[in-house]
Amino acid sequence: MKMVDDHHDLFSESLETLKKTGVRITPQRKAVLNYLVESEVHPTADDIFQSLSSDFPNMSVATVYNNLKLFKQTGLVKELTYGDASSRFDFNSVPHYHIICSECGKITDFQYPALEEVEHLAGLVTDYEVSHHRLEIYGVCPECQKEK
Ligand SMILES: [Zn+2]
Ligand SMILES: [Zn+2]
Repeated sequence: MKMVDDHHDLFSESLETLKKTGVRITPQRKAVLNYLVESEVHPTADDIFQSLSSDFPNMSVATVYNNLKLFKQTGLVKELTYGDASSRFDFNSVPHYHIICSECGKITDFQYPALEEVEHLAGLVTDYEVSHHRLEIYGVCPECQKEK
C-alpha cells in the first residue's frame, strides 16, 4: 500500500537499496521494480510478464520470477502464497493486512494496527517461538457485488 505521490520516491529508494546490496541494475530489473511500485493490485509473475513483454520482447517469465525472488531477498517485496494458485507479489512499504474477494480473487490492502498481542498470546499458550502471523479477511468486492 502506498500513497500515489510517493511512487517516485519509493522507486528511487528501492533502487538505492538494490544498489547497496551490489545488485546490477538492468533495464528489465528496473521495469519490474517500477511495475511493483506503481501497481495497486498484487500481481503474479505472469501478470508482470504480460504487461512488460511488449517493452522487453526478450524477457521471459523466468526473468521476471528471478527478479521477484531477488527483490524478496532484499526485503523489497513480500510473496503471498494462496494454496495452489500462483504466488502474488506485494511491494513492501507500509505494513498492512489483506481482504480477498472470494469471487474474482482480487486482494485489497487495508491498514490496521499490528496485532502483536495475538503473537504474544500464541507463544505463551503453545511455547512456540513465534515468527510472524498472517491475517486475511474474505468477502465480495464492490465490483463483484454490482455484477449480481
Ligand atoms: Zn471481486
Ligand atoms: Zn498488500
